[in-house]
Amino acid sequence: MADCDIGFEDQGRPGVGMKYTAVLYVGAWADHDGLIIAAQYRVPPDRSIFGALNAANQYSGWRNPGGRVNLRYPLFQLIAAHAETLFQLKWAVQHFMLILQTHKATMTQVPRYDLHCHSTASDGMLPPAAVVARAHANGVTSLALTDHDGLSGLPEATAEAEKLGLELIPGTEISVEWNDHSVHIVGLQINPVDPTLVQGLDEIREGRANRAERIAAELEKVGFVGILDKTMAYVGNPELVSRAHFARALVEMGACREVKQVFDRYLTPGKPGYVEHPWPSLEKALGWIRAAGGVAVIAHPGRYRMSNKELGKLFEAFRDLGGEAIEVASGSHTPEQIAHFGRQARHYAFMGSQGSDFHGPDESYVDLGRSLPLPDGVVPVWESWKNN
Ligand SMILES: [Zn+2]
Ligand SMILES: [Zn+2]
Repeated sequence: MADCDIGFEDQGRPGVGMKYTAVLYVGAWADHDGLIIAAQYRVPPDRSIFGALNAANQYSGWRNPGGRVNLRYPLFQLIAAHAETLFQLKWAVQHFMLILQTHKATMTQVPRYDLHCHSTASDGMLPPAAVVARAHANGVTSLALTDHDGLSGLPEATAEAEKLGLELIPGTEISVEWNDHSVHIVGLQINPVDPTLVQGLDEIREGRANRAERIAAELEKVGFVGILDKTMAYVGNPELVSRAHFARALVEMGACREVKQVFDRYLTPGKPGYVEHPWPSLEKALGWIRAAGGVAVIAHPGRYRMSNKELGKLFEAFRDLGGEAIEVASGSHTPEQIAHFGRQARHYAFMGSQGSDFHGPDESYVDLGRSLPLPDGVVPVWESWKNN
């Protein structure tokens, strides 16, 4: 399994009468469904190797009852051993390795969810099949492909997922306007051929094509001649030209060094390449997701430039319209934000979602499957379809 690495470290401080001490580390990504973290476990020097082995056995199955599960650092330290002779130490390590093998087998069965990512069907860098293959290689067992305002990547992703034995959850990320803010709503487990949803997304994409031309015209005015052609070279799906594509072309043309700077200098409200666009309302988007039998999720709430009070209003409006979940663990959230939105999810009785928001190997916050897990006490959004 990709994340599991076993290290060995000489502690160098043997206990009384013990010449050798070892600490073994096991790496794993803790999933909400619950693996085990025994952080900083130390075998007291007066305990025998057998005691250490027993402790290791005990601690390999469940959480350290007295300790806090350490969500921030997925590496955990499992066991320590002390020995009087090198022979004893080697013996102990061999046994530890056996335990770890069993442990690894359990870990690979732990489902890992990544419920937010992009392919070339919108503004991602990899084709849908490559996204699925990369997720699979990273240990993801359930992946939602959530391209912006469209569903065209789903057939290819689904076919690849079937080949690899990974669960592909049909999804999309809809751009909506709420209180003069652009907000993203992820729809999960949607029926990708539902006519209401399909038609709604078609309308958004028509608007996008029109917006792309207007953005290009504005950028030409400030000196970026030929920007539309350069941008189109980055576009995988001609129906889905996004600001990220413009940003990549602007970096190529030397406007800024990084895509993130381009957004701040050219593509946000008040800047030369920003163009108003009539996005659908929150209500409309939720209606489409509901019509398609999906679950609506507010994407990356930590990324909107809103005060806590305004964000609270968004949560209330969303809940009143039947919204059920928020993205608690996003690749773009800090660990503090994950804890905060975990509390918010509990407060508003939302389920929690987790996703990397992966766009490409060089352009993303985190790789596929690498967003941190949901905090304790947050009901995972997948419970809503597991029970059906
Ligand atoms: Zn988004
Ligand atoms: Zn996204």
